[in-house]
Amino acid sequence: MITFDDVTVTYGDFTALPQLDLTIDEGEFFTLLGPSGCGKSTALRTLAGFVTPSRGRIIVAGRDVTRATPDKRGVGMVFQNYALFPSMNVRDNIAFGLATRRTAAAELRRRVDEIAEQVNLSPEQLDKNISELSGGQQQRVAIARALILKPSILLLDEPLSNLDAKLRQQLRVQLKDLQSQFGITTVYVTHDQDEALSMSDRIAVMNQGRIEQFGAPAELYDASASEFVCTFLGDVNRLTPGQVEMLNAGGAGLAPDRRHYVRVEKIRPESSASHSTPRGVPLQGRVRRRRYEGATSTFEIEVGDGLLQVIRIMDDALGTGLWSPGDDVRLVIDPQQVLSYTPPVEEAAA
Ligand code: ATP
Repeated sequence: MITFDDVTVTYGDFTALPQLDLTIDEGEFFTLLGPSGCGKSTALRTLAGFVTPSRGRIIVAGRDVTRATPDKRGVGMVFQNYALFPSMNVRDNIAFGLATRRTAAAELRRRVDEIAEQVNLSPEQLDKNISELSGGQQQRVAIARALILKPSILLLDEPLSNLDAKLRQQLRVQLKDLQSQFGITTVYVTHDQDEALSMSDRIAVMNQGRIEQFGAPAELYDASASEFVCTFLGDVNRLTPGQVEMLNAGGAGLAPDRRHYVRVEKIRPESSASHSTPRGVPLQGRVRRRRYEGATSTFEIEVGDGLLQVIRIMDDALGTGLWSPGDDVRLVIDPQQVLSYTPPVEEAAA
């Protein structure tokens, strides 16, 4: 549905995207994920037609749109701040794109009513001013305004970043439902890994204008191809040389010249009354600190020559609810869940 073919984008002397190659399938919820400044918005704006690449091609539905203006690309875009018109009411905001295409008044009315219903905006809300709406409602107006033009692609640039945490969670679900309902190919930009993991069919993780890895969320999380992807996607422990030695003494077989990481939730307590011992190498540790988080707690545990962060769901059957600073505890790490990376050449030599 969408192809970035060898796309390079420069701003003056600065190359924001060096040679981007990417293919996005029809109907897919695709996310560009990365830290601030990695070039994800640039990629989105290039696809939308607001930025022209210095080389390469953008293909949408088999058509080369590299030189086409934004309105000729069949894409609808929702901006981070929604870019709604504060002086117009909700109905006029939604109608805007169609109105500029000289649509008859009755047809305009019908289309706005139809799309408003689809995105769950009530008829009363249509007469309100933009300033009278909550952040979540404004977001739905922005989506309705984009969808009313029946684009073949929906582009969303950090559409949840202005909202509070609780609302973000709800809107993730709503947005995802809307996307499946419309079956519309969606390209989503975010720096929030939880958002990306929970909403996307596939994710491209970007770093300094390049794609580090792309694939399904679980693939990226469980088999991160690089240290960058591994650490960006969640909380991990980088194992100390002493911890690697301890694991190897237990038969883990980790290469001593590589770096090894284990995610905080993959370290398990050895056993308790109602749970059998998980597979892996047992390690002796001492609880240094406990951070209570409600459903979970994060423990800082001294193991060998370093600390390990361990997150546990607060389930009394697991016994970890009873762990306190100073306690001696037994942990298990499954070597198969350890992610290993070859250090960059210059560091390995140092
Ligand atoms: P953020 O999440 O902070 O928006 P991003 O990943 O979307 O970041 P971009 O906005 O695509 O990143 O910017 C990529 C790089 O290009 C950054 O280093 C940025 O400073 C630079 N950049 C973006 N727009 C321009 C511009 N109009 N002129 C010059 N440099 C720009």
